[in-house]
Amino acid sequence: MIGGALAMDGAILIDKDGTLIDDEPFNVDAGRIRLAPGAQQALRDFASLGWPVAVVSNQPGVAFGYFAESSLSNVRDYLSRALAYYGVDFAGFFYCPHHPQAREAAYRIVCACRKPAPGLLEAAARHIGVPLSACWMIGDILDDVEAGNVAGCRTILVDCGNETMWRGGAHRTPDHTVGTVDAAARLVLSQVRETGRTGRPTFGTPS
Ligand SMILES: [Zn+2]
Repeated sequence: MIGGALAMDGAILIDKDGTLIDDEPFNVDAGRIRLAPGAQQALRDFASLGWPVAVVSNQPGVAFGYFAESSLSNVRDYLSRALAYYGVDFAGFFYCPHHPQAREAAYRIVCACRKPAPGLLEAAARHIGVPLSACWMIGDILDDVEAGNVAGCRTILVDCGNETMWRGGAHRTPDHTVGTVDAAARLVLSQVRETGRTGRPTFGTPS
């Protein structure tokens, strides 16, 4: 279990493209990655919460042959640096390289990890060592919401214009909807404070 003696109450699972960083389709050049509007403040808030943050992302560009899976290490390094800069405990970059219509045969499968399937979220929570019920899933489209709801997380849709299909379904209603990722972080913070789950170690209550 990661976190050592820290009394870790929960974790943040967050989508990458369009949620944490600006959506630039199939970009793996770290020099062109930009944090999304509000992401700096969101990361500061996650840092103050003290919870690990894992990035969970569909990367069909691998399946379509737009870039090699190995180039995602650039993206991982960027995320690691960016989150560390804001004091966030970066818990990993969990991505799905598959697609049912992949050009590359090795990636042409119906997998359990491509969102809206919950596989990436399950892997991230297992890696961190927290139950999925203690995780918040934050994303900009309803596939993120469905993955989070199916996994048993609490879910926030950052409705910043990236969801355009609005396909309904049993698991596609978010617990909360906000307009920007910093609003999502603020919401988690206020909910956690309300319920007294701080993510910080406690050393006894003064009498
Ligand atoms: Zn997959």
